[in-house]
Order: sequence, then C-alpha cells, then structure tokens
Amino acid sequence: MRYAALASGSKGNCHALSDGQRTLLVDAGITLKQIRARLTALDWDPGTVQGVAFTHEHSDHIAAAAVLLRNTDWAFLVTRETLAAIESIHGIEIPASRLVLLRAGHAVDWNGARVLPFAIPHDASDPVAYRVEWGAAAMAVVTDLGQPTALVADHCAGLDLLALEANHDVDMLRNGDYPAPLKARILSRVGHLSNESMGELLARVLSPRLRHVVLAHLSEQNNDPELARFTAAEVLKHTTIALHLASQQTPMQVAPLGE
Ligand SMILES: [Zn+2]
Ligand SMILES: [Zn+2]
Repeated sequence: MRYAALASGSKGNCHALSDGQRTLLVDAGITLKQIRARLTALDWDPGTVQGVAFTHEHSDHIAAAAVLLRNTDWAFLVTRETLAAIESIHGIEIPASRLVLLRAGHAVDWNGARVLPFAIPHDASDPVAYRVEWGAAAMAVVTDLGQPTALVADHCAGLDLLALEANHDVDMLRNGDYPAPLKARILSRVGHLSNESMGELLARVLSPRLRHVVLAHLSEQNNDPELARFTAAEVLKHTTIALHLASQQTPMQVAPLGE
C-alpha cells in the first residue's frame, strides 16, 4: 500500500492511498489538473484513481467536487450530511450511481480496501477522519479536529502510517494577526489541532507497528514547520518511526508499506 500527500493546508487538501492498481483520494481541495499533475510528479498513474472520500464540506477539502463529478467517473465516498452540504455549496446533484454512502463508525469495503470513517470534533455537518486497511497495511488520515478524543485515539491504534494534523502553535496563533473570532474558532473544541495536542495524540497511539508519521494541515500563518517537527520528534525520539511533513505546494510520498 502506498501513501502520498498531494497537498495539505488551509489552501487545499488531497491525500492519495493506493494498492498500485487502484487509488483512493481523501479529499479534493485542489483542482483536478493539480491532482493529476501532482500524482504524475510522484510517478503515480492518475488513471488508477477510482474514488474520493470526503472528510467534510470546508472548501479546502471539496473545491474540486463539481469538476470531479463532470470530468471523471470517480466514486464519491461521503456521509449523508456531508453529501448534502457539498451538493448545496456547489449546486450539484451527485447521482446514486456515483455514491458510496458512509456512516461514521461503519466500515465499507471499497475495491478490496476496508474504509472506516470515524467522527472527529470539527465545525462541519458530519466531519470524519479515515482509517483505511488495504492488504497488510493500515493507515489513517486525521485532520481538521479541535481535540484528540479517545475515539480518535482508538481508531489510530495499530497503524503502519498516520497522517495527523499539526495545525498551529498556540502562542503563534494567540500573538498573530488573525481576527479574535477566527482565533477563537481555531482554538475551540471543534477547531484545529495544535502542535501540543498532536504530540499528546501521537504519544497515545505509538506502537511497534507504526512506521511513518506525516504531519499535515500545518498553518502557514500560525505554525513553523520546525516547531511541529520538534514536537513530534520529542515523542518519537526513542523509536525508529520516520517523520515527514506534508506541504501545501509540494507533493510527497512515503516508501511503500506492507509490500
Ligand atoms: Zn481543512
Ligand atoms: Zn475544516
């Protein structure tokens, strides 16, 4: 199983998971053109993409939805409430033939992958993160959450790879230029995960199996990649787990897992 972060941050998110034959995207917050270009840059065949699983309806996660509906035959994996929000925001209707309807807490089999959406605290209709098990490998994409709940930690147990939000440094956010209401929103229970909370969650889900941690959804304004990296590295210091940073501009991938 393979993992790539095509884009990650408040200007657009897209993760790619693949068994080499079939590729599932998690979120599509960059253009279809960029999705294809970034896959190609990593030497992945864009023709293998067969579906996109949406986490929630914020624009940095769904920007390409209408174009994907028109210009691809990809399946849309989505919960009913997030589907309604996407349809209303984009003024589209996604036909049943293109849908795999999800419920948080219930796994579906998608092309041989076990896709499990699970609830996260975030200010959207029905936000979820994903745990995906494919062949011998298990990975999770966990971004856009205000706090590291026990339920989230439970779903991050026994992974080979964890892509985890490290959104902001609390002091940088507090002392920064964002308007007070936006700061309050980000810091709230349903906002975004701080470096500190990321570290706490990471410490709870360490296991001998975990090989890769990818820090994701870093704020360009309110975080410093070195601070995020330092926080995670402290937690990982007595392990051989590889630490990576996903970026807004440059796609990255990790070595194939479980192959
Ligand atoms: Zn986001
Ligand atoms: Zn969001």
